[in-house]
Amino acid sequence: MKIEKLTDIDGLLRKHEDYRSRCLNLIASENYASDKVRSYLSGDFSNRYGCYVGMDLDDREYTGNKYINEFEKATQELVKEVFGGKYADLRPIGGHMAGMSVVLALLEPGDLVIEVHLKDWGHGLVGPMCELRQFDETINVEYMKFDENGAVDTKALQKMAAELKPKLIVFGGSGTLFPEPIKELKEIADRENILLAYDASHVTGLIASGVFPNPLEEGVDVMFGSTHKSFPGPQGGFVVSDNKELMEKIGNALSPSLVTSHHLNRLPAFAASLLEIKSFGKAYGEQVVRNSMALAKAMAKEGFKVKGAARGYTESHLILVNVGGFVDEAPGKLLEKAGILCSDDFSGSAPEVRIGTPESTRRGMKEEDMQAIAQFFKRVLIDKEDPESVLKDVETFALKFPDYEYAFK
Ligand SMILES: *Cc1c(COP(=O)(O)O)cnc(C)c1O
Repeated sequence: MKIEKLTDIDGLLRKHEDYRSRCLNLIASENYASDKVRSYLSGDFSNRYGCYVGMDLDDREYTGNKYINEFEKATQELVKEVFGGKYADLRPIGGHMAGMSVVLALLEPGDLVIEVHLKDWGHGLVGPMCELRQFDETINVEYMKFDENGAVDTKALQKMAAELKPKLIVFGGSGTLFPEPIKELKEIADRENILLAYDASHVTGLIASGVFPNPLEEGVDVMFGSTHKSFPGPQGGFVVSDNKELMEKIGNALSPSLVTSHHLNRLPAFAASLLEIKSFGKAYGEQVVRNSMALAKAMAKEGFKVKGAARGYTESHLILVNVGGFVDEAPGKLLEKAGILCSDDFSGSAPEVRIGTPESTRRGMKEEDMQAIAQFFKRVLIDKEDPESVLKDVETFALKFPDYEYAFK
């Protein structure tokens, strides 16, 4: 298509919105921000420029930012209240940049970092960075192991840490089912001077809701993440820690190297979503986890191999389902033909789907709706029904949930 006039823009946007309203969104890394949160993204802040080095907001370079400065400080206070941590940095414009700032600030050339491998649903923070020669020649990376339930293999990680003495261990990935063994690594970390970081991008909303352990309280030195996955805010990132020295280093890596203008319109939208999570977070987070659990059980009942069965499937906003035996390739495209949106992966030994419940929960779906969702998966992947015919029923189902809950109206 060609954009020549405004109606071309409006038309395509309408098509997108209509399409997504008819899809069943089970992408674990997406969510639905409320109209109120969305409305703040188009305010005057979106045309202003924020730029400062170091941690001190009063060192901001741009004039005219008296109230933006005040706003950023107040939002930092809200973040500290919700996530803990004596210091917060809101300049990363996404979870990935937040992670890069932590890695680049805390490692010296030649240091080793342990993170989650892509094949275990790692996000791929350091691994892909090392595809660039500058990083490949200065950063060494190893990967933590996972057990058959999809949980970090604690003993193996303790052994790796004691033997390899990495500078940094980054917990957290894009397929987190269970809390990580942070307390179990703390003693070795203290003894060997290993820094512990937590990439909370996926579970930020669960941590804020109090339904998932707060890694800072469990002993990590620094936590970072996205504000738009299980946390239903605007797209953005953050870093929090109790350690001033580390935060100064991270701040210096962020600016001026990684970010100068940090997209200030995120701040009021993020502040509004922090207020929402303070008011509705507990109910939201509990329902997200109940829905994941209900969906896991329903999928298992339909004949799917759901990961983590021996540990109760999941304690988070997502489930992982091995669909080997039913399909020979990653089935995301096939499912999308039936209006079902979720992530897939075929880098391990069998094709897997990752099914998340944050957006469906915000849309008002409850445990009984998870039964219906499991049946849609069965019809497409096990019964091999024509996806077009499943699509009609998925659309009818999705259109029953046009609204959202756990938000200011
Ligand atoms: C999504 C994700 C990121 C990247 O976050 P963005 O906000 O998209 O930049 C980083 N780490 C993990 C574990 C993720 O799942």
